[in-house]
Amino acid sequence: MKNISELEKEKCNGCSACFNFCPKNAIVMQENNEGFKYPVIDMEKCTNCGLCVKSCSVINANFQNYPPRAMFSLLWQKIQLEKKVLLAEFFL
Ligand code: SF4
Ligand code: SF4
Repeated sequence: MKNISELEKEKCNGCSACFNFCPKNAIVMQENNEGFKYPVIDMEKCTNCGLCVKSCSVINANFQNYPPRAMFSLLWQKIQLEKKVLLAEFFL
């Protein structure tokens, strides 16, 4: 799975982890008729880095066994990706 758009909507619990971890701000949480929010990806911004998949609480249900370590690892990856984007923009 390259990005979270491949997860079936019925499985999403609306936790917004993918939205919060995307380093490209490519995800918006969109509300449906019943008030349930689920992620929608702007494919123009998405680089298929996979961080949304790694952060998903449904796909990674085993996170609850080691949240601090797993979340630190994801945050670190997000910071590294954002650093690359900032450096690339600076030198363009
Ligand atoms: S693959 Fe990366 S850039 Fe694309 S939506 Fe997921 S976290 Fe954002
Ligand atoms: S992280 Fe997974 S469960 Fe949470 S909103 Fe995104 S797709 Fe849904």
